[in-house]
Amino acid sequence: MTTLKAITFDLDDTLWDNHGVMARTEEGHYRWLLDALNAWRAARQESGLTLDHPSGGDDYLQRRQQLAKEVPERRGDFTWLRLRALEAQLEDQGLPRSAALLWAAAAMNEFHRLRVQVTPHPEAAGLLAVLTERYQLAAITNGNIHLRRQPLAAYFPVAIAAGELLAPKPDPTPFLTALSRLNVAPECAMHVGDSWLEDVLPAQQLGMHAVWVSATGDQQLPSRVYRIAHIKELPSVLAWLES
Ligand SMILES: [Mg+2]
Repeated sequence: MTTLKAITFDLDDTLWDNHGVMARTEEGHYRWLLDALNAWRAARQESGLTLDHPSGGDDYLQRRQQLAKEVPERRGDFTWLRLRALEAQLEDQGLPRSAALLWAAAAMNEFHRLRVQVTPHPEAAGLLAVLTERYQLAAITNGNIHLRRQPLAAYFPVAIAAGELLAPKPDPTPFLTALSRLNVAPECAMHVGDSWLEDVLPAQQLGMHAVWVSATGDQQLPSRVYRIAHIKELPSVLAWLES
């Protein structure tokens, strides 16, 4: 019999399928930037940018990757990397620094608008609504989805963007931060996530219970680790643990 008091959730590919959203967001916010900025320059009788899609987008990606190597502590802070990469790219296009900062920020606003257009699994909201009556809930993500604008935000009074803590999972810091904010000991908490390396192992090593959301995986599971194929199976694990 376990006294489980808190459940922490990974978001992407745990509570929704992230695949199409990232592709749409990546292309969408960059195309928006090029279109809006070229229209702004045309209205001021200025020449268009020499950037286009996809080559400008490839350059933007390379700048982020380079920056993550140069400033490794920021490697998981994707919003910071994107902003700095866009600012530098736009300054290299001849924009004054003030305009580059403004347009990069506007592009990231569009990024966040698109990024939160995830479709949670149909069972997710109902499941969280039931769980919140019995457990404290928290979200722990390595991604840079806007934690207050994402569609399930209301269920997560504690929500942690691990990259912005400069400690992306599997670093234990975001787990310990969540447990501290919930005031719960690791053995009284469970983490639920799709990544074996970033969710399951670090949570298990801290002494938490861990639920691995994975359609496949036949390996021997360490103690306190349970596998489910889909988030909708979580209640059966909880019922078994609490019985
Ligand atoms: Mg995930």
